[in-house]
Amino acid sequence: MSKGTKVPGYMQGKGSRNPRGIIGDREIRYKCSLQNTILDVLRGRPGWQEVPGQNNIQPNVNQANPKQAGDGDWDFYWCDREWLAQNYDTMFLYEHQKILHFRNHYELTRKNLMVKNLKRLKKQTERELGKAEGQSFEFFPTTYELPSEYHIFVEEFKKNPGIIWIMKPAARAQGRGIFLFRRLKDITDWKKGEYQPLSDPNREVPETYVVQRYIENPYLIGGRKFDVRVYVLVVSYNPLKVWLYRSGFARFSNTRFSLDSIEDTYVHLTNVAIQKNAPDYDPDKGCKWSTQQLRKYLSAKHGVEAVKKAFKGIDNIIIKSLQSVQKIIINDKHCFEMYGYDVLFDSDLKPWLIEINASPSLTASGKEDYDLKFGLLNDLLNVLDLENRLTGKEKRVGGWDLLWEDGPILADDGNMECAPNGTTASIPNSFLGCHNERKRQLRELYTAAQSIKKS
Ligand code: ADP
Repeated sequence: MSKGTKVPGYMQGKGSRNPRGIIGDREIRYKCSLQNTILDVLRGRPGWQEVPGQNNIQPNVNQANPKQAGDGDWDFYWCDREWLAQNYDTMFLYEHQKILHFRNHYELTRKNLMVKNLKRLKKQTERELGKAEGQSFEFFPTTYELPSEYHIFVEEFKKNPGIIWIMKPAARAQGRGIFLFRRLKDITDWKKGEYQPLSDPNREVPETYVVQRYIENPYLIGGRKFDVRVYVLVVSYNPLKVWLYRSGFARFSNTRFSLDSIEDTYVHLTNVAIQKNAPDYDPDKGCKWSTQQLRKYLSAKHGVEAVKKAFKGIDNIIIKSLQSVQKIIINDKHCFEMYGYDVLFDSDLKPWLIEINASPSLTASGKEDYDLKFGLLNDLLNVLDLENRLTGKEKRVGGWDLLWEDGPILADDGNMECAPNGTTASIPNSFLGCHNERKRQLRELYTAAQSIKKS
């Protein structure tokens, strides 16, 4: 490799395999704000070098001497959302630098904004393409923002006596501050301020909540409710380019489902953060199934076609939700986002979008969970390909399948284990819950990419 190559910058057009993580004529330098699986992955990446120091870094490299790896110097930064919010507007990024999060990711990840954006795209779709098309948005439960939409909510509440609603703080996570109710009185208590001063005693405006129709008929396995964590990687909003990870997990509640005890969070909230405090929680058994296990179970019970339809509904949720913010998100080629979608199946196997997280937990709850997250994150780095080992035309990298690139992607690589009769024609390139032999796939992929680049 030429020592005279200008850095920073990829080795463009070199066509050589570059397995040791080298940009130009030096190694890839990374920063990481988290102390969990992602840090293990970055540290285990051949040739990648950690830039020491926590968060106190300059967002740009030394312009006078770009070869010098000073403290403020990085190529890849797994930062936290707070750091990005504080620094993004004033930072300068070089061509090759990659950073986690888009500037205004909250448009999708705050519960009230997500619904607002979805409602807007739904209306626009109905206007432009007709009511029938609008039906493809019927995957989020009726939701209102409080206090701003309180009066519309009350009208809706009165129209549907007896149903259950769920109240959720718009910007909190891990099940905090959530409660279910049937009577309007419960919400009038909230209105009086009972639930308002929770996060900051000095704040004057009431905390924003969403009130949402509770899904009263969740799909149950062994009498228990669960939701599914789905990992989605967006590498560009314009054009929209989306990858879907094959593996994930279902999180079960610890207690059998019943509508008799709506105040019991162990029954109704599937968050691990809640469930692990249940009195009879068994940390060895945990409360998770792999998505593969779930897909197999559902296929055995309902047939492959029914399950394919249900999982296709998840693809629809992913694409419609991302499209709903496509014009709003500040697109920046340096940014990428790995979302954790929470999806709940009802008893008809219809998937419902519960929420989207921009910082899905990367802390492992056990060996299996660790292996899942380790592979997920390693493959994410493989997709981003800072080492420049791929051709850029791949539809699958490890466990990630390219779902959308300015339009749907169709599968044609012959790896159709979830397709009926091994057919490949016109099948979406979407394999959630399918076999994930990522290591073998990567070996083959890199060998193929190397020979294409050589020729
Ligand atoms: P958080 O960000 O605090 O995790 P979520 O919106 O993900 O909040 O809700 C927490 C849990 O509550 C979900 O994982 C799910 O089990 C349950 N839940 C949330 N909304 C609904 C709903 N509309 N119907 C049924 N269950 C819900």
